[in-house]
Amino acid sequence: MMPIIFIGHGSPMNAIEDNEYTEKWQKIAASMPKPEAILAVSAHWFVAHTRVLTAQNPRTIHDFYGFPDALQNVQYKAIGAPKLAYETKDLLGEHVLSDDTWGLDHGTWSVLRVMYPEADIPMYQISIDQGASAEEHFAMGAKLKALREKNVLIVGSGNVVHNLSLIDFSMSGGYDWAYAFDKFIKNNIENRTFENVINYHQAGESAKHAFYTPEHFYPLLYVLGGVEKGDELKIYNESCMGGSLSMTSYVFYPPVNK
Ligand code: ZN
Repeated sequence: MMPIIFIGHGSPMNAIEDNEYTEKWQKIAASMPKPEAILAVSAHWFVAHTRVLTAQNPRTIHDFYGFPDALQNVQYKAIGAPKLAYETKDLLGEHVLSDDTWGLDHGTWSVLRVMYPEADIPMYQISIDQGASAEEHFAMGAKLKALREKNVLIVGSGNVVHNLSLIDFSMSGGYDWAYAFDKFIKNNIENRTFENVINYHQAGESAKHAFYTPEHFYPLLYVLGGVEKGDELKIYNESCMGGSLSMTSYVFYPPVNK
């Protein structure tokens, strides 16, 4: 049985930098068995319908602007996992579509190239249906649980707090409301009161600023949906940066002897 993880990905530059965040991502990779395949739920594939990436050789998508060539030129050449992708599609239900036109977007490869630089693990993604509710995203995550038994590593990649219109890169930490929202989510994850994470508006004022669009938050709901009762939680990179970004990441490890 594989762990299930949510990574706060932050800036695409993390893909090519060595910093306090990427150091932890490497540590996370080293803390778990090597997966048979990786299924990413990335904030950057937020579209109509749930789609499963069935590409045999997924392309590296550079879905950002104004970054140096060193980042623009990155290719992450993991092969796809079409067979598993079709199995996943069946697991999720009839309304789910297959898609071989998308590839690995930067929400996925900026993290995975740090964790698995050799790109030797088959990879695929599922999209986040922009028309679905928070409850529905959580329920989709619950359907993915079976993949953990097949040694598929499910990676949610987003940010708990992600408000680019309020970002201030001269700030090394976060605004008060960013810490407050991050803490609200953390407390409820630690207490396993996931219903309060789904109903994040309960956090009050801080929830109004944490994000204006939910695509970076929803990957977390897939991960929480996939948590088993006995899983042990470890939190990495608990921090805010640039005022309005949280890098806090959650790893749920199956019990040691399972
Ligand atoms: Zn992002």
